[in-house]
This record gives sequence, C-alpha cells and structure tokens, in this order.
Amino acid sequence: MTTTIRRYVETDTGHRVPNHKSKCRHMHGHRYRFEAEIEGDIVEEKGVSEEGMLIDFSDVSNILTKYIHDVIDHAFVVYENDTILLEMFEQLPPEHRTVIVPFIPTAENLAKWAFEQVSPHIKTAYGNRLRLIAMHVRETPKSWASWKE
Ligand SMILES: [Zn+2]
Repeated sequence: MTTTIRRYVETDTGHRVPNHKSKCRHMHGHRYRFEAEIEGDIVEEKGVSEEGMLIDFSDVSNILTKYIHDVIDHAFVVYENDTILLEMFEQLPPEHRTVIVPFIPTAENLAKWAFEQVSPHIKTAYGNRLRLIAMHVRETPKSWASWKE
C-alpha cells in the first residue's frame, strides 16, 4: 500500500512536429497541463507543517512553476534540427522566448523532459520516502501522454 498525490501546472506553449503527416507540422500552440504524480510515505513528525502529508502541495506547485512553467510558458519549443523554424526565429528580437530542445516536441517527449526537470527537486526536509513516479502531459482535452519510472 502506498500514497500518491498529483498536482499540475499549465502553460501556453507553441510547437510544431516538423515531420508530421498532417496539420501538426504547422506552427501552433496548446494549453498544456503538466501533472506530476508523486508517491511516498507520509510525514509523521509531530507538529510540523507537513505532518500527515507526503509533501506540501504548494511546494510541488512552486517546483512545477520554476522548472516547467517559467521555462516554456508563452514560449515556442523548437526541435534543434528544425532549421526552417530556427532560421525564422533568428529574425525575431532576442526577447522572444525560443526554447530549443534535442527532441521533436511531441506530448510524449515533453512528458519525459518535464519529468527530468522536476524529479531531482521532489523532496521534503523530513527525509520521508518520496519520488516522482510519473509526469502526465495533457496536450488537448482528449490527448494525454505520460512518462513513468
Ligand atoms: Zn500540437
């Protein structure tokens, strides 16, 4: 038996899938939802703020905000070999938020990326067993991908 919690953050992010057989090759964006699923043991230390919790939801929110939202919100995620887009973005002023990644920015690959961004930061001060077990990414209301360990 174990306990899990989930918390999500949302971003407005542009991408394209350059090899896609249909419309995903066009530049477009999504309201992405990145949902972290965390498993672990409940903090039993008496009198502390986290007593009875795996980790404070607000701490998870802060981690998701820092390592996902603040990196790709109102940004365009571009595959490093998508030379057409990269040349085009060079025309934009430097404040344009272009995030170059070593993978085609599908929901599946973004789930793995987000997992790796967040996983090292999931911990409390109490040493309770705690780990990120999955990152679920909603690309559209009908479409989700997950990366699990
Ligand atoms: Zn898309």
